[in-house]
Amino acid sequence: MTRRLMLEINGGTSVLMERSRRSRSVNIFVSPAGVRVAVPYWVSFAEAESIVRKRFGWIERNILRMEEFRRTYAPELLEMPTEKEAREKIENKLKCLAEEHGFSYNRLTIRRQKTRWGSCSHSNNISLNICLARLPADLMEYVILHELVHTRVKDHGRVFRRELDRLIGDSRGHEKRLKGYHLELLGSF
Ligand SMILES: [Zn+2]
Repeated sequence: MTRRLMLEINGGTSVLMERSRRSRSVNIFVSPAGVRVAVPYWVSFAEAESIVRKRFGWIERNILRMEEFRRTYAPELLEMPTEKEAREKIENKLKCLAEEHGFSYNRLTIRRQKTRWGSCSHSNNISLNICLARLPADLMEYVILHELVHTRVKDHGRVFRRELDRLIGDSRGHEKRLKGYHLELLGSF
């Protein structure tokens, strides 16, 4: 059974159709990554396609809204790695930065999270959001360094801030820019 199918509808909008075990019905997701359709196992791709075509007006309106949002809040172009590439990229970056600056951490978990970019537990387990791979390089670095500094300093006080500024410079500026990248819009891998 085909698991994925790329369609082009109405003169050039790419739509990725994917088999999904979790979906109870044909679900259409519009994100800056494009249009993705989750198709349950009991629905044929042909049926799903006809549903997508019927809802094309809705899809188009959402694409436009998304584009406008992206231009306003996240003007830099976002990369579109696959999930595997994203994981490798994040893992390597963490390793390199830890080595370069002499940090050590316990375990890394890469997750899809809706509300946080990363966290560091009391036992120095670092958790990073897979969507980091889609940020501009310096912002991804900022988030990873932020969590690495937490391996030594748990709060966000003066010591923390000074250390982070020393490593990346203008940490508050980075933080502000990061706010322009909304996780809910980056979440579709
Ligand atoms: Zn923090």
